Amino acid sequence: MIRTVLVANRAEIAHRVIRTCRDLGIGTVAVYSDADRELPYVAAADVAVHLGPAPAHSSYLDFERILGAARRTGADAIHPGYGFLSENAAFARAVAEAGLVWIGPPPEAIEAMGDKARARRLAETHGVPIVDGYDSSQDPYNLEQAAEAIGFPVLVKAVAGGGGRGMRRVDDATELADALNSARREAEAAFGDGTLILERYIERPRHIEVQVFGDTHGTVLHLGERECSIQRRHQKVVEEAPSPAVGPELRSQLGAAAVKVARAAGYVGAGTVEFLLAPDGSFFFLEMNTRLQVEHPVTEEVTGLDLVALQISVAEGRPLPLTQDEVRLEGSSIEVRVYAEDPLRDYLPGTGPVRRMELGAGPGLRVDAGYAAGTAVGPHYDSLLAKVIASGPDRATASRRLRRAIQRAWVPGVTTNLPLLREILAHPAWDAGDLDTGFLGRHGLPTPPPLNLDLGAIAATCLGAALRARTGPGHTPPGWRLYGSAEQEDTWRCGAEEARVVWTHQRDGALALAVHRGEEATHHTARVLDLDGDALTLELDGVRATWRIAHLPAADRPSGPGPDAVEDGDTLYVHTGQAEAFVQLAPRFPPPAAAEAEPGTCAAPTPGTVVGVHVAVGDRVEAGQRLVTLEAMKMEHAVTASEPGVVTELRVEPGEAVDEGMLLARIEPE
Ligand code: ADP
Ligand code: ADP
Ligand code: MG
Repeated sequence: MIRTVLVANRAEIAHRVIRTCRDLGIGTVAVYSDADRELPYVAAADVAVHLGPAPAHSSYLDFERILGAARRTGADAIHPGYGFLSENAAFARAVAEAGLVWIGPPPEAIEAMGDKARARRLAETHGVPIVDGYDSSQDPYNLEQAAEAIGFPVLVKAVAGGGGRGMRRVDDATELADALNSARREAEAAFGDGTLILERYIERPRHIEVQVFGDTHGTVLHLGERECSIQRRHQKVVEEAPSPAVGPELRSQLGAAAVKVARAAGYVGAGTVEFLLAPDGSFFFLEMNTRLQVEHPVTEEVTGLDLVALQISVAEGRPLPLTQDEVRLEGSSIEVRVYAEDPLRDYLPGTGPVRRMELGAGPGLRVDAGYAAGTAVGPHYDSLLAKVIASGPDRATASRRLRRAIQRAWVPGVTTNLPLLREILAHPAWDAGDLDTGFLGRHGLPTPPPLNLDLGAIAATCLGAALRARTGPGHTPPGWRLYGSAEQEDTWRCGAEEARVVWTHQRDGALALAVHRGEEATHHTARVLDLDGDALTLELDGVRATWRIAHLPAADRPSGPGPDAVEDGDTLYVHTGQAEAFVQLAPRFPPPAAAEAEPGTCAAPTPGTVVGVHVAVGDRVEAGQRLVTLEAMKMEHAVTASEPGVVTELRVEPGEAVDEGMLLARIEPE
C-alpha cells in the first residue's frame, strides 16, 4: 500500500496527480524550484520541498535532490508526471534502489521504447506496420543514400526525440545536410543524443494514438484512441476522444496493434502507442510514450476512469479492475492546450505576470491549470499554462461547450495561443472533423485578433466614471480633471493606434460618449449599473452585459491600496465575453519620445539561451542572414540581419542566457 506520493514534476500535471492522491487518501509531497514557489500545486500538496534553482538540471532533473526530498518527507512512492524524468530508465532504477515505488513502467520497457529506432524494430518484429525508413549508421553518405531510396519528402527524427523536437521535414536532397545538422544539434541539446533516423513523410496523415494499460498479472488492455492531428511544429494543440475518423472496426485493429506493441515491451502501467493514419486508411506505428500523456484527460472523460488512480493501483501490484470487454467509451471529449506563446510571432514563447486566469467552469468543463492569477510565467520550462477539456454526449456538444469556454477565456498579462484556439474551434473543417496534421499549415491560421480599440476605450471610460462615482461627489482624482465645463476627454492607446473619447454626464446619469478615430467618430450612450471587482455591468446603447476589466496601475505609480481612479499610463484589459481589448491611457503631457532602436542593432526577440553564433566580427552579411540562434522553451529562434552590412560587434557566445531586448550584435549598414 502506497501511503505518500512524491510528485517529481511541476505545474498542471503535478497538481493533477496531487488531486487524485488526495481523493484516494494518499499523502502528497510537491517539489519546486526557485521559479515555481508561487504555483498552486505547491500549496495543494501536504508538504513541499524546495529543490534548487530554476534550471531543470539543478531541480526537476536532479536525481539526488528528488530522492533526498523523498527521504526527508517519508514518501514511499514517486510519480514522475510527463516530461522531465518520466521516461528516464536510470531514474526509475534509482527510485527502486532507494526502496521506493516507481509509479511507471519497468525501466526495461522505458529503454526499449525510448529509442525510436529500437521501437520501430520491435513493432515490426511483432507484425505492426511501421513507416518506410532508415535507422542505422549515422554516416552522412549512408543517410543521403537512404533518403534517396525512401524518396522525398522525408522526415528527419531524433531517436531520443519527444515533443516534436529534433524533427525536420526535408523536401529535396539539397536541404538534407542542413536539416541533419540542425536536427542533430537540437537533439543533442535536448536529449544528449544526436542519433537520427529517417522516415518517409506521410502526406496528410491523422495522428491517432491508443491509450494502453498493463498490470503485473499479465493483463494488457487498451482504452480506445485519441486523435491529436491539430499540431504546430509537430506539437499537439487540440486532442479528442474518440477520433471522428475511427469506427468500431478500425478501433479494434488499432487497439490490437497497440496491445501487441505494449506486450512486446513487457509493459506495465499507463502508456500510449502513437500511430499515423494515412488518407487511404492504412496506419503505421510511430512511437510509444511510456508515461501518462498530456492529453490523458479526454480518455478519462469518455471512459469514466481516473488514469492516475489506475497507475497507483497497478504500482501497488493490484490487477486492473476491468477487462477489455468492460471498457466502455461514452460521449466525446476535447482538450485544448493553452500555451504561453504568440501564434502571431512564430510561436515565440511568452513570459510575464499572469494577471487573471479565467478558463471557465460549468457542466462538461474541466480545467487542469498549472498557473493562477498572481503567478508569473518564466522562460525556464515548457510553455503549457493549462488544459481546458470539454465533454458531452456527442462531439458537437463537446465542441460547442469548448468553443464558448475558449471564447470567454481570459489570461491577461501573458501572450497566449487563445486567439489561435478560437480560430481552430470556429473553423468549418474542425466542425466537420476533417483533420490532418497539416491543418494549421494549410488553413493559414491564425489571423491577428482585432484591436478592438473602440471597445476598450468605451470600457475604460465607463470604468473611470464608475470609480469616480464611487469615490464620492466633489472628489476628482488627478487623472480625471475636468476640462472646461462638463465635457471631458481622454486618449486611449493600443499599439500604435489611438482613440480619443469625449464624454459628458447626462442628467439621468448616463454617459454620452463620442469615440474619435482620426476623422471618424461613433456615438454611444452608456449606463454603468454595477462595478464589483473586475465585473463591470453596463447598458451600452440599450444592451445590458457584464464585462470583465483588469485595471493595472502604471508601473511608476506609487502603489496604494488599489487603484481608485484610472490615471495616466494605466493599462486596462477588457473581455466582453465576445471580444477582448487592451488599452492604455495616454499621458496628457507625454514625455519625450523614447529613442528609436538604432539602425543595425540586433536584439533578442525573447529571453532564451544562445545555442549558435553563426558570424564573426568583420563578416559581411546579407539581409535575412542568420546571425545567432536562440533557444527558448524547447524552440529554436533565428536572429537575422535586418539589412546588409558588416558585423562590427558580437555581444554573446553559445551557452549564454539573454533577456528579451538585449543587444546581441551590431551591423554597420552598407
Ligand atoms: P509527445 O511526446 O508525443 O509530443 P505529449 O504531447 O504528451 O507527447 O507531450 C509531452 C512531451 O512534451 C514530453 O515528452 C516532454 O518532452 C514535453 N513536455 C510537455 N510538458 C512538459 C513539462 N511540463 N516539462 C517538461 N517537458 C514537457
Ligand atoms: P515525438 O516523439 O516528437 O512526439 P513522433 O514520432 O511521435 O515524435 O511524431 C510527432 C508528430 O510528427 C506526429 O504526430 C506527426 O504529426 C509528425 N510525424 C511523425 N512522423 C511522421 C511521418 N513519417 N510522416 C509525417 N508526419 C510525421
Ligand atoms: Mg509523439
